[in-house]
Amino acid sequence: MVTFFSYISMIVMDSSMPYRDPHSLGRWKCRLRRDDLIVASFPMTQSIFPFPRQAATRAEALAQLEAFAKRAHRYARERNSVVDSHRNVSQLSAALQHRLISQQEVVDQVLSQHSFVAVEKFLQEVLWRSYWKGWLEWRPSVWQDYLSQLSGFSDEDRQRSQSVALGQSGCAVMDDFAQELRETGYLHNHARMWWASFWIHHQKLPWALGAEFFLQHLLDADAASNTLSWRWVAGLQTAGKTYLVRRDNIERYHHAPPSKGMEMLDAITVSIPSEERAHERIESLDLTTSLPSTQRKTLILLHEEDLSIEQTTLAKLQPERIVFFDRAASNPLSPRQQWRQAAFQDAISRVGSHFQQRCDVVQDLRDIHPLIAERSIEQVVMMKPMVGPLDDALRPFLQELSTAQIDIHALRREEDARYFPFARSGFFPFWKKVGQQLAQR
Ligand SMILES: Cc1cc2nc3c(=O)[nH]c(=O)nc-3n(C[C@H](O)[C@H](O)[C@H](O)COP(=O)(O)OP(=O)(O)OC[C@H]3O[C@@H](n4cnc5c(N)ncnc54)[C@H](O)[C@@H]3O)c2cc1C
Repeated sequence: MVTFFSYISMIVMDSSMPYRDPHSLGRWKCRLRRDDLIVASFPMTQSIFPFPRQAATRAEALAQLEAFAKRAHRYARERNSVVDSHRNVSQLSAALQHRLISQQEVVDQVLSQHSFVAVEKFLQEVLWRSYWKGWLEWRPSVWQDYLSQLSGFSDEDRQRSQSVALGQSGCAVMDDFAQELRETGYLHNHARMWWASFWIHHQKLPWALGAEFFLQHLLDADAASNTLSWRWVAGLQTAGKTYLVRRDNIERYHHAPPSKGMEMLDAITVSIPSEERAHERIESLDLTTSLPSTQRKTLILLHEEDLSIEQTTLAKLQPERIVFFDRAASNPLSPRQQWRQAAFQDAISRVGSHFQQRCDVVQDLRDIHPLIAERSIEQVVMMKPMVGPLDDALRPFLQELSTAQIDIHALRREEDARYFPFARSGFFPFWKKVGQQLAQR
């Protein structure tokens, strides 16, 4: 266990590392696991990509939102073009995924400057995140099946996919996207679609391995948006619909000079998805948003999925202890991990000053037990983790607490409780309800 102050000094040490300069990662040596090989074995040449502006603190994210909101009415017209600086999209996804800022804040800011009609397309995209998250909450078996597929791949399958992930497919535009993802942790939505389609339908690689590659590198890595988008490209998410990348579409929307290997795309054919079992919807979701008793001895568990708890109902608590769970990183020097550390540091200092107390940081959940015993904690309160890796990591620990008669209260953000009930089926019924609510504000 490390205290808030030693955690800060770890980060200060880390900030001497190349956070803004991922290209110099090659200078650093560390012990690597198999998962890290893709990052580790990539030759670190001078990058051609500008590091994207993915805000890593709440203040930066709010400033970025303010600047983007002024241009939000141009989004529908410009968003599909992939330009070097990505200036025609918001690049707010990492901040939204980790809740440095909320979707509600984005909606409020944009609607304070534009009519609903002028920015509907942008709001629709922002709400896709809620839709995908809600959809996966209703069908957690989709995530479990994805994990069991991943555990079933042989070393040979993994080696075959590695050359494409390393940018050695021979199709220069796709190889550049693989490099951009690894070096910056970001890809434009259109590039994600093209690349995923190339992986599945041209290279005939398993979608689950491509989704894993994205999750390892994206700053905005999200179990719901990622898994379900890959399934959609593969033709599993929407019956009868597959996304097939076309050369003329790339030539139209990718603002880069013609590159080698484009003719490879002329030979693309749909890979028919294999049959999968039906994924039943669960019967109900726990959508609790209200605080439990503030009189009981409380430990707040802070985590990566909600880095602004002082903006939520949890702000009213007077906790005995606050603990931040820092889930282990596969490669501590990757751009993704550098971004996470900066964002975690920001959250810990905001929470520390809001509650006027120290925040302990644990990487091993077992270190929380002595803290609970020391302060005779009666309840643990946190924002509810969604279906995905954090929830998987926390579940056995929360079960242990329950067995030890500690009450667990996992609360939803108001916006999730409002929108998830509409995410039971397709996006269009979802948007009909949600868009109507936003239009009538
Ligand atoms: C194969 C594939 C994998 C993806 N994996 C992820 C992922 O792991 N994490 C992730 O956040 N997004 C994922 N997306 C969705 C989308 O590509 C990103 O959210 C978007 O590109 C982020 O960039 P931006 O913030 O500049 O988006 P903008 O175009 O500015 O959109 C504004 C916001 O709307 C939301 N949004 C936009 N498009 C989508 C979408 N299709 N699905 C869900 N939310 C959306 C994001 O919060 C985004 O920040 C994936 C898409 C594909 C095709």
